Amino acid sequence: MTKFLPLFLCFFALGSSVPNVDPWGRTKKQPDHVGIEKEIVAFEIMYDFEARIRGIKFKTPVTIVVSSFKMKKGKGTVVGLCTYGKNFREIDINMQYWHKSTWMTKRTLIYHEMTHCFCGRFHTWSGGEYPDAEKMPKAPLQVGLLGDGCPASIMYPIVVSDDCVAKHWDMYDSEMFDGCNPY
Ligand SMILES: [Zn+2]
Repeated sequence: MTKFLPLFLCFFALGSSVPNVDPWGRTKKQPDHVGIEKEIVAFEIMYDFEARIRGIKFKTPVTIVVSSFKMKKGKGTVVGLCTYGKNFREIDINMQYWHKSTWMTKRTLIYHEMTHCFCGRFHTWSGGEYPDAEKMPKAPLQVGLLGDGCPASIMYPIVVSDDCVAKHWDMYDSEMFDGCNPY
């Protein structure tokens, strides 16, 4: 039997009513990074272009950092995180995972987190909200899937496989901007 090790994709909102410690065990009062990490700039330019051709313009800079902080969540690993700070939004990418990923996986990961941080979307697809992936650590989520078992959105809370991305990229690329509330 294949062991299923989920690679979680997360968002985290800082607020006065919730503990101010993010899933990486840190308290972020301000962004860790200035601007966008060099190796991610090209992805951000493509994302921004995709948004613009749909009439969506982002107003506020989002900082993006490839981070060496590691976090286990249940039986999985958090590989990407968008933090909603009081006056900032920042994306953390798990450095270890980033460096061993294919170009396609990197794009999936960064576009997922950008959709959290730039568009304010949560883990949703056209039919509703995905359940919390960490509560179902033993098998992939069985909701919000296409007929072939691929997720119906890149906002699936576990990294979408390169096979599914290759098959459905046009749909994912367009769907991620549905309901975008530009930051
Ligand atoms: Zn996510």
